[in-house]
Amino acid sequence: MTAYEGPTDLFINGAWRAGADGRRFPVLDPATGKLLASFAAAALEDCEAAVDAAGDAFPSWSATPPRERSELLRRVFELMTAEAETLAAIIVAENGKAWPDAIVEAKYSAEFFRWFAEEAVRIPGEYRGSPSGDKRIVVTHQSIGVSLLITPWNFPAAMAARKIAPALAAGCTVVLKPASETPLTAAFIVELLNRARVPAGVVNLVTPKPVGPAVESMLADARVRKLSFTGSTEVGRQLLASSARRVVSTSMELGGNAPLVVLPGADLDVAIAGTVDAKMRNGGSACTAANRIYVHASLHEEFLARLTDRFLAFTLGPGSTRSNTLGALVSQRERDKVAELVETAVGEGATIVLGGADESSGCFYPATILKGVAHGSTINSTEIFGPVAAIVRYDDVEDALLMANDSEFGLSAYVFGPEGDAVRFAFRLQSGMVGVNRGVISDPAAPFGGVKQSGLGREGGFEGILEFLETQYLSLPA
Ligand code: NAD
Repeated sequence: MTAYEGPTDLFINGAWRAGADGRRFPVLDPATGKLLASFAAAALEDCEAAVDAAGDAFPSWSATPPRERSELLRRVFELMTAEAETLAAIIVAENGKAWPDAIVEAKYSAEFFRWFAEEAVRIPGEYRGSPSGDKRIVVTHQSIGVSLLITPWNFPAAMAARKIAPALAAGCTVVLKPASETPLTAAFIVELLNRARVPAGVVNLVTPKPVGPAVESMLADARVRKLSFTGSTEVGRQLLASSARRVVSTSMELGGNAPLVVLPGADLDVAIAGTVDAKMRNGGSACTAANRIYVHASLHEEFLARLTDRFLAFTLGPGSTRSNTLGALVSQRERDKVAELVETAVGEGATIVLGGADESSGCFYPATILKGVAHGSTINSTEIFGPVAAIVRYDDVEDALLMANDSEFGLSAYVFGPEGDAVRFAFRLQSGMVGVNRGVISDPAAPFGGVKQSGLGREGGFEGILEFLETQYLSLPA
C-alpha cells in the first residue's frame, strides 16, 4: 500500500477526534516492521463520551423504521463493495495476511451488510393461543440497547462487520473497540458508515490504552446492555465475569481447536483441497482453522505426499505483492508462538515433513507439515494460529471420534469421507459448525458460533440479529 491516508482518530458522536489526553500508539506493518500510522489512544473519558453518544442516539435509532435502517446498511454494502480493494490493502498492511485472503475478507465483510440489510426488515414476531384458552400471547422483539463490540486482529474487517451490521439492523447503537494491532481497518469501516450517513452517535469507535480498565468502566455503565466479543477464550472468560456484575447480555465468539478427520474411503482430491482451505485460509490465523488433522492409516502416506505438494506451492512473502499466497503473522510475538509450538511438537515426538522455523524471518513463518503428532500433545491441544498442519494417524474410526471430541473447544470441525459416513460422523461431533467434505464453512447466511468453551450465541444467519434483540411477551385477554 502507498502511505495510509485514512482516519487515525476516535469516532465519537459523528466526528473524528483525538483522545482527550492526546496519547497515540503505533500501528506497524508486520511484513516490514515499518510504522504505518500513529493512532489515537482513547482515555477513560473518551470511552464515557462514546457511551454517552450511543446512549443519546439509541431512542431515535431504535425507533427508526426498519426500512431506513436497512437502506443505510445496503449503502454500506455498496460502498464497501466498491472500496473492496482499498479495504483489502489496509487489512494487508496492518495484519500482514496475503492479498488473496484480504480481498476475500473485504468482500465477505461487505456481505454481512447486505445480509443484515435484508434481515432488518424481517425481525420476527409471533401470535399464539394459550393452551388454557384464557389469553392471547404476542411475542415481539425490542432492540437491546447500547452494545459494546470488541473484535480481534485476525479478521479485522469481517469481525467488525459481523457485529456492526446485525446490531444496527436490530436498532442498537454501538461502541466498537477493535484490536490495537488493527485499528486502521476498523476506522476505514466506520468511515464508510459515516459516508453512508449513519446518524451521529449510532456508531462510535474507541481504541483505549490500556484496554482492561476502559472496557470494565464501559461494562459498568448502566446504559451498556450488550457485549459482543470475539477473541480468545481467556479474555472472553474475564469479560463474562465482568458482565455478570450487571447481568449484561453477552455473545462470545472464542477460541477453537478444530479437528479435521479424514475417514477411510475419502476422496483424496476433495480431502486435500478441503484441508488446504481449512488449514491455510488466512495463513492459519483463523479460529476455524483445522488444528488437529486425523488421517486414517489407509490414506495416511498418500495424504501426506499430496498435502506436501500443495503446501510447496505456497509463496511466502508480503501481501503487498499480490501473487504471494502466504503472508506474515500479525506480530513477532505471534510468529514466535508458532515456532515454539513446532519445536515443542518435535520434542514430543513429531517429525517435520516440510517447513519449520529455519526457513523464516521477521513475522513470517513457512507452510509447515508435521507428522507423528500425538493426540493430547501440546500442539494438538493448543490453538496454533499459524500455517502448520499437525497430523495424527489413526486406525479406528470410533477412536477418531473420541479424539475429535476430546477438547474443551467446539467451534468448528471438518470431516472428509463417503458422504453418508461423513454426515453420520458429523452429527456425532461436539462442534457448533461442521464442514462435510468442505474446508470453508463461513457464510453470512449461516449461524456461526461454537459450543463448550468456544463461545455463546451465534453470529450471521437468522440467528445473528436475535443476539441484539430482547424478547418481549405481551399477555392479552382472550
Ligand atoms: P484477544 O482475546 O487477545 O483480543 C481480542 C480483543 O479483546 C482485542 O480487541 C483486545 O484488545 C481485547 N482485549 C484484550 N484484553 C482485554 C481485556 N482485558 N479486557 C477487554 N478487552 C480485552 O484475541 P486476539 O489475539 O486478538 O484474537 C485471536 C483469538 O480470537 C483466537 O483465540 C481466535 O480463536 C479468536 N477468534 C475467534 C473467532 C470466533 O468467531 N469464534 C473469530 C476470530 C478470532
